[in-house]
Amino acid sequence: METLETAKPVVVVLVPFPLQGHLTPMLQLGTILHSRGFSIVIAHTQHFNPPNPTNHPEFTFVPLSDGLSGRDASSAGNFLEIISAINTNCKQPLEDCIMNKLEGQVACIIYDSLMYFVDDVAHQLKLPSIFFRATTALYMQSYYAVLALEEKKMLPLPESQLQEPVPELHSILRYQDLPISVSSKISETLIQFIKSFSNIRSSVAVIWNSIEMLDHLALHQLQHQYQVPCFPIGPIHKLSPSPSQTSLLPEDTTCITWLDKHAPKSVLYVSLGSLATMGDKELVETAWGIANSGQKFLWVVRPSSVNGSDWIECLPDGFAELTRERGLIVKWAPQKKVLAHWAVGGFLSHCGWNSTLESICEGVPMICRPCFGDQMMNARFLVHVWKMGIELGKVVERESVEKAIRMVMVDELGNEMRHTAVEMKGKLELSVRKDGSSYRSLDELVEFIISLIH
Ligand code: UDP
Repeated sequence: METLETAKPVVVVLVPFPLQGHLTPMLQLGTILHSRGFSIVIAHTQHFNPPNPTNHPEFTFVPLSDGLSGRDASSAGNFLEIISAINTNCKQPLEDCIMNKLEGQVACIIYDSLMYFVDDVAHQLKLPSIFFRATTALYMQSYYAVLALEEKKMLPLPESQLQEPVPELHSILRYQDLPISVSSKISETLIQFIKSFSNIRSSVAVIWNSIEMLDHLALHQLQHQYQVPCFPIGPIHKLSPSPSQTSLLPEDTTCITWLDKHAPKSVLYVSLGSLATMGDKELVETAWGIANSGQKFLWVVRPSSVNGSDWIECLPDGFAELTRERGLIVKWAPQKKVLAHWAVGGFLSHCGWNSTLESICEGVPMICRPCFGDQMMNARFLVHVWKMGIELGKVVERESVEKAIRMVMVDELGNEMRHTAVEMKGKLELSVRKDGSSYRSLDELVEFIISLIH
């Protein structure tokens, strides 16, 4: 295993993007690099979703004034505006921090692709920067496909074309699976934003929370395109030497004790991640679908994730009585522990990349309810390529929810998918073991960072 051995501390500055799905893999990368001998500085947004430093006494946390006091993900408003504010406001504070406190100690800055201001800072301070993507290379390619369509002036596409495969991508992906709706005109602001975060600029390397086995075609194509070393080191949480607490919301750990009481593979876990919201009608339909399936369930409903409600006030009358003995609703769960629990037999998910990886890593078949971003693409792969998921239709109705739950939890199809999921889990385990692709890639990354020290 490649580790750093020097008399004086060598600092790696990590600049995460402040959303749960981005923050978690970046902090886990920090834990890994720390275990390999580097000092870790986390330069984070001061007000908008800052990480909790007490969970990581081994890191130094540097808050960057983001000018976003009083805003959080649920009240974020215009997302592009928030990203733009962060990229404008955090630049000088990062530069000042490195110049005044870390001069001469920094080997490199690793930054989330959405924190693209870092490239300027690195350039200014003559430091190497490394571009970090919390998702797949395929997802990045899908944005290049959108830009290509825009450049060829093909947008908006007619509705009739949305079912067709996108020529530049895996044949399973249709225009309607792209992260941006291509059936309507895309604003110039959005185009500029895509260009900003998909440009690796002067980065000397790229890190992906992705895996050769799942993403090889896109990884190889982008490696060729970028002409700098690319390190796919996913699933990062499985390479981390110790599990770390990275949740922005408090985890309700009572659900683990609750799971302990149930039979193997008997509980459905339901969660739409940290950002997706639903209307009250969808909540009611999902609730009846779950209740009518007769299955046990653990359901995460984040506060304010149901439009117009604080929490679960609009659950239908009778739902609580009907499911009291077999269901639990919490505001936020320790998801990795939940998925690793023997009582969990299925996952109704929005298919965020972290949730997808965490489910594959534990061999849990999925019911896919994608909402936006890369989730449609992840769902397509889970259902049609990896064959460990089924998809819920766009319109969520109690009958389809009930049917999907039964298919995964009770029917033979569910057993087959579980079998496939367990095989996938085995292959992922190999990739993070010594000589596995991600393990090797991590060793190469550490070696590469050491080579940057001068
Ligand atoms: N998560 C969690 N508890 C919950 C729900 C989600 O810890 O109750 C974590 C989950 O393990 C994952 C992250 O939040 O690591 C969500 O990331 P993902 O990429 O799946 O979706 P996003 O939130 O970015 O849409």
